[in-house]
Amino acid sequence: MQDLVPLPALADNYIWLADLGGGHLVVVDPGEAAPVDAALARRDVASVTILLTHHHRDHVGGAMALRERWAARVIAPHDDRIEAATERVGDDQRVDLAAGTHAVALAVPGHTRSHVAFVVDDVLFCGDTLFSLGCGRLFEGTAAEMQSSLARLAALPPQTRVCCGHEYTVANARFARHVDPGNEALAEHASWARATRAAGRPTLPSTIALERAANPFLRCDAAAIRKAVDALDPDIDAGTVLGRLRSLKDGFDG
Ligand SMILES: [Zn+2]
Repeated sequence: MQDLVPLPALADNYIWLADLGGGHLVVVDPGEAAPVDAALARRDVASVTILLTHHHRDHVGGAMALRERWAARVIAPHDDRIEAATERVGDDQRVDLAAGTHAVALAVPGHTRSHVAFVVDDVLFCGDTLFSLGCGRLFEGTAAEMQSSLARLAALPPQTRVCCGHEYTVANARFARHVDPGNEALAEHASWARATRAAGRPTLPSTIALERAANPFLRCDAAAIRKAVDALDPDIDAGTVLGRLRSLKDGFDG
């Protein structure tokens, strides 16, 4: 992959633009078309492939217009609510992209029932499943499903770059510090994120290594996290811990 940039869109979304080389571009979760059109106009475009992680409007809203304008392939999970799709993918399915690159789809239910993540080279596009220092809300799935989806992403190689659908890091850090106050990696990353946002820069991509060290939703077995949700009893499973943590955060965010 020659280039990887987040295009800010809507209120706090990122549309990810990856250049595979030779003008073969991948666009992930275009919630609107305009930022993508502007970015593509500055490049020599050989082909455009759109990857969609889930059906929410702020991730797919620009897909149909972009498909028509750029003759794009649109790869999406099996979900009729995503009308722009030209190809559907299921769990563990490999899709050849241009320039000798491929994507692997991973089913990660929890935020929505059909949500998928995509791995392209050492890059993870995780939509609204994993955020830096947080995770998506449980709209259609259970806490147990989200916990196993997150565990699957956490098992990717530590250097994997994590490209999320929203810039939520600073707000997530406030909750993470609340439930994991003694975590030095978290404290350090939280202050870096505040400074980075103050300078107008994105806090993403993150890495799997950082998230494993600092994201409370990937640390459901850590004593500090279990203590925060009154789950020090080892018989309480990780899915239950995640459910309690998610509920606590829903209240924390107000
Ligand atoms: Zn969503």
